[in-house]
Amino acid sequence: MASKKHVACQSCDINCVVEAVVKDDGKIQTKSISEPHPTTPPNSICMKSVNADTIRTHKDRVLYPLKNVGSKRGEQRWERISWDQALDEIAEKLKKIIAKYGPESLGVSQTEINQQSECGTLRRFMNLLGSPNWTAAMYMCIGNTAGVHRVTHGSYSFASFADSNCLLFIGKNLSNHNWVSQFNDLKAALKRGCKLIVLDPRRTKVAEMADIWLPLRYGTDAALFLGMINVIINEQLYDKEFVENWCVGFEELKERVQEYPLDKVAEITGCDAEEIRKAAVMFATEGPASIPWAVSTDMQKNSTSAIRAQCILRAITGSLKQGAELLGLPHSEFVSVSQIQMHEALPEEKKKIQLGTERYPLLTYTGMSAFEEPSARVYGEENRYFHNMAAFMANPTDMFTAMASEKPYPVKAFFTFASNALMGFANQENALAGLMNQELVVCYDQFINPTAQLADYILPGDHWLERPVVTPNWEGIPFANTSQQVVEPAGEAKDEYYVVRELAIRMGLEEHFPWKDRAELMNYRISPTGKDWEEFQKQFTYPSNIPDYFAPGGVGVATPSGKVELYSSVLEGLGYDPLPYYKEPEQTPISDPELAKEYPLTLFAGLREDPGFNSCYMQEGPLRNVEPDPVALLHPKTAQSLGLPSGEWIWVETTHGRLKLLLKHDGAQPEGTIRIPHGRWCPEQEGGPETGFSGAMLHNDAMVLSDDDWNLDPEQGLPNLRGGILAKAYKC
Ligand code: SF4
Repeated sequence: MASKKHVACQSCDINCVVEAVVKDDGKIQTKSISEPHPTTPPNSICMKSVNADTIRTHKDRVLYPLKNVGSKRGEQRWERISWDQALDEIAEKLKKIIAKYGPESLGVSQTEINQQSECGTLRRFMNLLGSPNWTAAMYMCIGNTAGVHRVTHGSYSFASFADSNCLLFIGKNLSNHNWVSQFNDLKAALKRGCKLIVLDPRRTKVAEMADIWLPLRYGTDAALFLGMINVIINEQLYDKEFVENWCVGFEELKERVQEYPLDKVAEITGCDAEEIRKAAVMFATEGPASIPWAVSTDMQKNSTSAIRAQCILRAITGSLKQGAELLGLPHSEFVSVSQIQMHEALPEEKKKIQLGTERYPLLTYTGMSAFEEPSARVYGEENRYFHNMAAFMANPTDMFTAMASEKPYPVKAFFTFASNALMGFANQENALAGLMNQELVVCYDQFINPTAQLADYILPGDHWLERPVVTPNWEGIPFANTSQQVVEPAGEAKDEYYVVRELAIRMGLEEHFPWKDRAELMNYRISPTGKDWEEFQKQFTYPSNIPDYFAPGGVGVATPSGKVELYSSVLEGLGYDPLPYYKEPEQTPISDPELAKEYPLTLFAGLREDPGFNSCYMQEGPLRNVEPDPVALLHPKTAQSLGLPSGEWIWVETTHGRLKLLLKHDGAQPEGTIRIPHGRWCPEQEGGPETGFSGAMLHNDAMVLSDDDWNLDPEQGLPNLRGGILAKAYKC
């Protein structure tokens, strides 16, 4: 039997480190790590990781480059070809498209977290070619949090459970199968007496563990935080020294939160005013307190304000200087991803036309340019273009619109790297129209998912058990874990860097990709440690040295003022409200009671279920068997009022579209709301347009989610999925 390896699980995005062993029958057994690990507590493994090898070895996995030889896009006539043929043809077509439409006509959607091995080289390739049009699901999931954190305190803030005496959770339904290592961290924190405040409309298991549970109305998080800030300021519970020395805009903030007295906040959120007050007092006085990242506020109409208000809470209560919240930075021991990306190579005129710049500039090059000087000041000139998880992103709505309508300019080549872009955003029909209007679609992935069904070429991607990496790939986490390779890639699967470099060579960019393979690239990235990979991988974790941002006379944080900007100069400069606010979304029973008569339910979308991760692991097997059908959840009383029994197929319809889902009753859901799943498709069905791309057009939540302006957060331009869309449900 082979020796055990330590591997950072990449079946979801928290990267629990697990143990992997190749058994005598060739199968890989994954189990929780048996030795003490600095960042992964014991017993941290979930069903996705236990079953990782069933996905790796699944009969449907793509093992060779495939070319669609059908006459129409979406026709499923796949022919096996060699890597050289695939890469030669892709490069030739890309050259012609760039010659005709310009380099910005290349759009890319990437999921960095499931890749890890390209270390920023895909952006480097794009920057050297001259295309700014990179986007990712991270635009509405943690990447945008990092962008808004940056606006307020210079970089992404990582909550340290071990250093927190009070945790504020926002809709985080952790479990043994959902971010299990953080669930174990939570249990350990509670065991030593840490307080827990939970904001969640649902009565979840985590809500039941809380000292204070605030069952707020979906989408009202910003109002609730403003009410908490009101209490903390008016009751003089804030850290006066920190506010005086390290914050700007306190007086303006103080004035703003007077607009959010507790009785008004209670009315908006549906929570009890005294409970909100207790939560505010607990957060301010039982600290150090922290707010671990939660996707919930990434997907709301008031997302920017809700995230900003969290930043303000952690600042004015002193958490940022007490170690409960750690401001991220390029890893001090490595060559940074930002450096490898070479954003300086992209001409300024191309940065200015990044899609989204005109309507929603905040997360694009234009909005993020405000952080170039501050990043250079705090992290060194070499990190002027600090990536901070995900920055410089094209707006996905504007990307798909440019692909479909060729306005403001054509995007005619689209590469999707492990991102299943068709299903990953809102307004799936627009994404489909965009993909259909391409002259070249390339998909790097493990399965022929709905996006791959629209590709000209599918390139077989490796699996995390087949690649040695450092996790996380994104920048802003104050540590890095080593992850060992367990087996060679199956079939002809290749790592992402192979694809990037081979294309770069064919596009005449070889000199900028001197690392001949991933091993050389990895050795370059870790070269400041003085170790090569063989030596480097023996150590579990490499902590990053975090500067003392707030030392007397210190360098401060990477904002334009060098201080925490309660009043944001960057938002003000872009013409937005520099202070957080709450505005009722356009489609709620309060703002549109007439519409609510026809659409009486409040939609809750974008939810990942435990056996899956976005649209992954839908293939037949043990993970799919946990919940084979796409399920909608209604409170039994709500279902009864609509005459909808559990176990029946229903239509869920919004003003944008409709979905077919299996109804289940669930007493944990708030009455009057409906929860729909994200990422559901049926790989067992034939692909192509006749089946709605294996059910994606029938079951995925993006079919009912609008990305019209009324449903977008005004600053970031990302779609609201929670609390601002009305829906109705009826029998099929
Ligand atoms: S929660 Fe599960 S899938 Fe996610 S990293 Fe941990 S073990 Fe892997």
